Formats: sequence, C-alpha cells, structure tokens
Amino acid sequence: MINIPKGTKDVLPQDSYKWQYVESVAREVSKKFNLKEIRTPTFEHTELFLRGVGDTTDIVTKEMYTFRDKGDRSITLKPEGTAGAARMFIENGLAGGVLPQKMYYITPAFRYERPQAGRLREFHQYGVEIFGAKGADTDAEAIMVADSLLKKLGLQVKLYINSIGCPTCRANYNKALKEFFAPHLEELCYDCKTRFEKNPLRLLDCKEEACKKINVNAPSILDSLCEECSAHFEELKDYLKLSEIDYEINPRIVRGLDYYTRTVFEFVSTSIGAQGTVCGGGRYDGLIKELGGNAVPAVGFAVGIERLLMLMENVGARMPEEQKPTVYFAGMDNACRKKAFELCAKLRKVGVITETDHMERSIKAQFKYADKLGAKYVAVIGGNELEQGVMNVKCMATGMSVSVAFADVEAYFLGK
Ligand code: ATP
Ligand code: MG
Repeated sequence: MINIPKGTKDVLPQDSYKWQYVESVAREVSKKFNLKEIRTPTFEHTELFLRGVGDTTDIVTKEMYTFRDKGDRSITLKPEGTAGAARMFIENGLAGGVLPQKMYYITPAFRYERPQAGRLREFHQYGVEIFGAKGADTDAEAIMVADSLLKKLGLQVKLYINSIGCPTCRANYNKALKEFFAPHLEELCYDCKTRFEKNPLRLLDCKEEACKKINVNAPSILDSLCEECSAHFEELKDYLKLSEIDYEINPRIVRGLDYYTRTVFEFVSTSIGAQGTVCGGGRYDGLIKELGGNAVPAVGFAVGIERLLMLMENVGARMPEEQKPTVYFAGMDNACRKKAFELCAKLRKVGVITETDHMERSIKAQFKYADKLGAKYVAVIGGNELEQGVMNVKCMATGMSVSVAFADVEAYFLGK
C-alpha cells in the first residue's frame, strides 16, 4: 500500500461540493469587483521566488520544493501566487494596457512545513492582485474583496491592518529595531539572530514563544513612517470607514514576504486559536521592478482555502448541498434495465440529473439505493410496463405514483 505524502490531502467524492461552493463564491465575489481570472504555471524558475518572495523569508530559506529538472534547470513548485502573477504581468506587457489590471487566481501552493491542522505542504489559495494603482482606495478595495468573501461564507473574522512604510521609513525602523533587540540577542532563537543581521523586520514575524515575548515591547513601525506613508495609512483608514469595514491597527503585522510596502493586513478568525489567519495581504510597490519590470504599484492578498473550510466547519457555516438526482430508474430484469439505461441517456441530454443501477440489485435494493442517493423520483420499469411503453413514477417526498409514457419522459422530468 502506498500512502499519501505527508502534509497533503485528498478531497473525497462526498466532500468536493464544499470546495466547489467556496470556489464558486470566490468567483462570484471576484466578478462583482471586475477581477479577471488568471492561471499561471504550478512551477517556475527558482530565481523568481528568490527575488519575488525574498531570500530572508521563511518560505525561501526553509519551505520551498526546489529540484533540478532533466535539463538541469532549478525549478520550484509555487509556494504562493503573487510572484507568478507578477512575472506574467511583466512578461505579457500588461503594464502597457489599461490600468489597473485587476485579477484573481485559485491555485495550489507548496511549502515544506511541519504539517498540523490548517498547515499543509500542498494547500490552496484564492488570491487577488491589482496592478497599476497606487492609492489607498485600491488597498481598501482589495480588503473589501476579502471581507466580502469571508462574510458571504458566514465567517466571523477580525481585520488587522498596519503599514510597514517604504524603504526610507524601513531603514529608520530597522535601526530602531536593532537598538531594541541588541540587548536581547542571546535570548533570541537561532533564526532571529540571522534576521537581526539581515532583515530585522523579520524578527517581528517569528513564531517562537521566547521571541514573541520579547517582540511585545519592540518599537512600533508606525512611529517611523515618513510623511507620505503616514498619509497613505490615514487615507486607508478613511476608505475602510467608507466601506463600513471594521479594523484594528496591529503594528506587529509585518507579513511573511519581503516585497511588501506600506499597507499590510490580515484577517484572523475569532473562532479558532492556532491557525486562525485565513487571509494575508498588502501593498508591494517594489515587486514589479524587483522582477525586472518598470516600477508599477500593486496590492493583493491570498486566502487559504483549507483554513476557510476548516473554519466554516468549526462554526457550522451553512453550505448548500450538492444537487441530488431528479430521477432514479429501477429496472426489473435485463430488458427493463436496458430501457432504464436508454431513458437515462435521453434525460441527461436535456440536462436532468439521472441515475440507474449498475450493480444488478433487486428492485427492493434499488429503492434503498435511490433513497440513499436522495433521488426525488423513482421510475420503475417492470415487464408489464415495458410492454405497454410506460413507467411507474413514484415521488419520494409524497409517496404518490403516476404512470408516465416512455415517450413523455423528457416533458415529464424537465423542470422537476
Ligand atoms: P502563516 O503565518 O500561518 O504561516 P503565512 O504568512 O505564511 O501564514 P501567506 O503566505 O500570507 O501565509 O499565505 C496566505 C494564506 O494562505 C494564509 O493566511 C493561510 O490562510 C494560507 N496558508 C499559508 N500557508 C499555509 C499552509 N502551509 N497550509 C495551509 N494554508 C496556508
Ligand atoms: Mg507561513
């Protein structure tokens, strides 16, 4: 027996409707905001993520699935969706088209993590990217997309926002952080000692308890923002008010990726503890240039679909069930089964969901099976019926039966 790889999951036939529901709501919400779907490759050149995610991030230093292909190229399975979207934007010259370019994706993502509830090695994201607009109204609009989705799915979440400024503010802040952390250097975890040297901002993102304790008293980045970044943050708050979206400012949010500038945000569930962050995003005005394009501002976010589903299950969120068969055809003997098969084929052609027996069950067992499937009607074809060209149609809800001619099968079931 070969088992599923650690940190991956199957979606079983009886559960896929939940995925389809979440995805359909995501597509519906996207449409309202005029976001167009994109699909980019599952793997990219490793270099894209080194540059586009950042070589001091956990993703790049520890979590990437990287391998050499048979042509000796270094390839990486995408750990997130933004870098690929940005590459696509540059490579296809979309900056030369109408701006902003608003898009969304639903994609698998791969990270070599320690698997636990809501933390997998292959997981899925719904993500949004808006390229070309620099104003805080666009940040608020991205936040509004995520907010609409989460609310539509019946989740209780809290929005945390922060600004991590521009490279100028960050230089000041990194200095302040270094001063603050220097006396605590010995108490920090191994990774944070490196972060201290390479990218002090990353210290705030550490998940080790010892580091988290020290972080609590770290200076706030909001005190280091330059005038423009401060004004941008104030504008964001205004626009969130206009959108009637509640938020809380959390100066500890720095996000896991290196390319963020100014606005960063997270939606955290108020109903579970451990992996409560369902959505993370922000502005990344430096990314397109970093990847070789002209400077184009951008903002986006990603929602973890497994975490969404987990939360929905936890709060008992309502999910419309899958459509059940309209009619189940039960045939008494071989000749009747053939007729059942034929009628099924006819009805499917006009779009009616039908089912029949494939296991040579008795009529009684077929009724049981039809009940299990949740069929609305059971159409029984016995020897007499076959001769007369009719079937006995029983409505499962009322128990009432009527006789329907084979010739009328479409007319009778269409619209039922
Ligand atoms: P975390 O702090 O939980 O590690 P992150 O900052 O690494 O999250 P992002 O890179 O912002 O996460 O990804 C966006 C969203 O994708 C997260 O909010 C989460 O819902 C989901 N996500 C991230 N990593 C995983 C994972 N390993 N398994 C399942 N979902 C994930
Ligand atoms: Mg992570």
